[in-house]
Formats: sequence, C-alpha cells, structure tokens
Amino acid sequence: MREIIIAGNWKMNGTVAETEKLLKELLAGKSKKRGVTVVVCPSFTSLHAAHKILKGSHIALGAQDMSAHQKGAFTSEVSASMLLTVGARYVILGHSEKRQYHAETDELVNAKTRLAFASGLTPIVCVGETLDQRESGQTNDVVGTQINGTLAGFTGEQLEKAVIAYEPVWAIGTGKTATPEMAQEVHKFIRDRVGQVDREAAHSLPILYGGSVKADNAEGLLKQPDIDGALVGGASLKADDFIAIINAA
Ligand code: PEP
Repeated sequence: MREIIIAGNWKMNGTVAETEKLLKELLAGKSKKRGVTVVVCPSFTSLHAAHKILKGSHIALGAQDMSAHQKGAFTSEVSASMLLTVGARYVILGHSEKRQYHAETDELVNAKTRLAFASGLTPIVCVGETLDQRESGQTNDVVGTQINGTLAGFTGEQLEKAVIAYEPVWAIGTGKTATPEMAQEVHKFIRDRVGQVDREAAHSLPILYGGSVKADNAEGLLKQPDIDGALVGGASLKADDFIAIINAA
C-alpha cells in the first residue's frame, strides 16, 4: 500500500491570525482519517505560528518553496535548515507558478530537491503541461522531460523519499480538472518513467494530483490506481472543503 497524502498549498494567502484560525478549524473538524497523511503549506511568515499549533497533531507542516543554497548572500531566500527550525517536514518544489513567474528550471528544481533530501525534508516535486502542450499532444514529452530533469542523479533510496505532484497547468486555479482517466494516464506514465530508474521506488512513490481538486471531484480522482493523493490549492483554504477532500481519500 502506498502512502496517501492530501496536501494544502495555501499560496500567498493568510496572515498569521488567519492561518491560526484555519488550522484551529481543521483540528476541531474531522480532518483526521486513518491511512491519510494530511499536510498544510502556509506562507513562510506563518510557518512558525503554524508549527506551534500543529505540534503533536496529525497535521504535518510544509513550505511552498526553499532556496537551492544552504546559506549566505541570497536576499529574500529561505533555506532548508530555516524551514526545519520552524517545524516544516515537506517542501513544495517546482510549482508551476514558480516556473511561470520566477523562471524556475528543472535544473534549479533538481538542485533544490537534492538539498531537501540532504536536509531531511520531503520534497513534493511538481510537474505538469500547459494547455497548448496538451492540445498539441506533447503531454508525455513535457512531463517526461520534467521528471528526468528534476529527478536527475538521484538513487532509488532517495527517490523512495520523494513525492511527485502532477499538476496540469491548465487545471490550476481555473476550475477545469483533468478527468480521472486523463490524470491516471499521466500518473501511470510518471510511475513508469521513475521505474526506469528504480522499480521499487516507483512502486512506493506517492504521486499526487493537483488542479482544481474539490470535494465533488476528489473521490473520482483518488479512486484511480496511480493517484495517491491530492495537492489542493483553492479548496484547501476553507476548512470544510479541505476536510471533505481528506475524507474522500
Ligand atoms: C495548486 O496551486 O497547487 C493547485 C492545485 O491549485 P488549485 O487547487 O486551486 O487548482
């Protein structure tokens, strides 16, 4: 059995007080489900406060990005060790918004992933095609290149500690979701691609789907054999909606 993970990407939403309120609502609600790992990724500024609330609970903490450097003159960046000190255990890397607005490349995501492994953080490495790429039949080429590039040089032992999120760019924040069949096809492709490096790691690798996951479409997606959870943006900002997705898992 592979680990099932439901992760909330809260993006640039939530002051410290708003984050605390949402976390308290999640803890007070039915957000605990046997066999499901729940992760929330608030903004950097809320991590410390979130850690204080989540310590000892069933909800794990993640960050939305980190630096590819360990320390030094990298103004504005946040290092892996800084994340660890505020209780983060996961880190989202290579999100399409970072690729799109901050020109992140597979090489940079690879460097960050390497550092995450070395630091003991679990990377959630995001891949996904744009609408143009899908419509011109390039989905597998694009996703395959992203998988090869972001995971280049890692051993099976390292890959066993990774999480992948397949997030078609055209489905993020748009309300358009890939059908369960469309998502399953790409998830299987990703698992096979990782399997070319290490079959055991591919077998145990959690591959999350992301892109307008909501309470009403989560079950269909999560039923697919190679979909092991969800990375949820908008719907993770409301406790009831996020709880419904956790319970669909
Ligand atoms: C995301 O940004 O990771 C995401 C999946 O967003 P949404 O659920 O809002 O599409």
